Amino acid sequence: MLSCRPVATRAIETALIVSLTHPDARAMRAGMAAAARQGADMVECRLDLLERPDPALLPALLKDPPLPVIVTCRPARQGGRFSGDEARRLALLAEAARLGAAYIDVEEDVPPARRPPGRLILSHHDFASRPRELDRLLARLTSAGADVVKVAFAASGPEDALAACRILREAKKPTIALAMGETGLASRILARKFGAFGTYAALASGAEAAPGQLSITEMKRLYHWEAIGPETAVYGVVGCPVAHSMSPAIHNAAFAAAGIDAVYVPLRVEPGADNFRRFLEAVLDAPWSGLRGLSVTIPHKENALARVGAGNVDELSRRIGAINTIRLGSDGTLRGWNTDYAAATDALCEAMGISREGLAGRKAAVLGAGGAARAIVAALAHYGAEVTIYNRTFARAEKLAAEFGAAARPLDALEDLAAEIVINCTSVGMHPRVEESPLPERLLRRVPVVFDTVYNPPQTRLLRQAGEAGCLCVAGTEMFLRQALMQFGLWTSRPAPREVMRRVLMERLSESKS
Ligand code: NAP
Repeated sequence: MLSCRPVATRAIETALIVSLTHPDARAMRAGMAAAARQGADMVECRLDLLERPDPALLPALLKDPPLPVIVTCRPARQGGRFSGDEARRLALLAEAARLGAAYIDVEEDVPPARRPPGRLILSHHDFASRPRELDRLLARLTSAGADVVKVAFAASGPEDALAACRILREAKKPTIALAMGETGLASRILARKFGAFGTYAALASGAEAAPGQLSITEMKRLYHWEAIGPETAVYGVVGCPVAHSMSPAIHNAAFAAAGIDAVYVPLRVEPGADNFRRFLEAVLDAPWSGLRGLSVTIPHKENALARVGAGNVDELSRRIGAINTIRLGSDGTLRGWNTDYAAATDALCEAMGISREGLAGRKAAVLGAGGAARAIVAALAHYGAEVTIYNRTFARAEKLAAEFGAAARPLDALEDLAAEIVINCTSVGMHPRVEESPLPERLLRRVPVVFDTVYNPPQTRLLRQAGEAGCLCVAGTEMFLRQALMQFGLWTSRPAPREVMRRVLMERLSESKS
């Protein structure tokens, strides 16, 4: 059962720490004020990123700061920029502690006798991979007498983000654990769910101190940081790339509007069935993660079906050979769906004022023979439409047509088009090549219904011309929105807040244009 978002915040808060990466101390001091205004809990001053890290700068930097300050001076050997004398570096940190820094971050490889006095974050960084002997490393850090333990390692998949979350969950003392890079991003957002001492964010996009760091604005507005707690359910989008996916914005806004305690995160899994399988095994091995559902996008839709199993999806998804939605049961069971075909079919049928069965006997032309075309051809054929596939690479059209009992034509044979419904499933007309259209304008007069699956931009050249020619138009945004609405329903068994999701989608699309 899904719980509602907690009204009160938890007693033990995870600090949202803004890393300040300015090249001069005055700008860094101004950055502190900006971080406070944006609602950070702490700042980290990265002295190694200053042009001239000098103890003389510290009194002004650390005098009456608006937020508690962590002072870090990362040496080059640990991925930082300080390449000077080690004694000078440690003296700088000691002086920062003396001047009132809340914490100083000292690397684990500094011998205990040389560690400056002060409240210590004892840190270990690995920019190559997750350390092999992670448990042993943590035991060593934990028993070293520091106030906070920090471990950060390069992620090779989101399973490394789960490894960081496990560290936090099992921590015996205040701990920061981060999987760096885009594939480990979830570890930064979920730090609060698993009770981390803190997580780091950038003051603005482009000012990241480490790979994969999000901006404080993204943490708060996109991922609703303050609302994340121990009971928060986790959902995410698996794909490659996923950095520019609109799904986190849409689903996080939907969860918030519906009062559901859940967060939706990007989960970049590199191409390859093995990578997908490794990630899903890690998820199933971590029932404590709270991961309840996944959206799946290119290139993992086929891998997702293979892993979820043909017996756990509907017949049409099985025939398509791909799914884009997974629900994880608390007992480790998996169910999969293809909401792409369902969303496309319903968007079309609703616009035409018919039921899915009403497609029987209607002539439809599908332009394209890729993944989207496959889902739509399968659905149209399933409901009895007469389908002709037009594709640039004719052999692909022939292959797809043979599988679903459709006809095949090359894309340059569109002059013979005779269909009630035309559906563009090519990427022609997609941002940024918005002046292109897959269908010559003069042919539109023959076509009563035009559906363009391209959703960026929302109004494609094809749809604009189709509207001018008096066609009934179905927009790709309608399909996109419906597949997200369906996912929300499948995961939560609750009606999706449709208008909120539509508004966020349209906002995101208009931002991506600028
Ligand atoms: P895909 O598997 O890569 O297929 C791309 C298709 O476009 C192929 O048929 C390809 O023809 C054709 N194509 C590409 N460039 C072309 C060109 N310059 N001229 C003619 N044909 C060209 O991609 P997909 O996943 O099917 O996606 C296709 C479109 O569907 C995208 O625009 C995507 O945004 C849209 N889509 C929308 C939704 C939604 O929710 N609205 C969901 C999924 C996909 P060849 O076979 O000759 O290469």
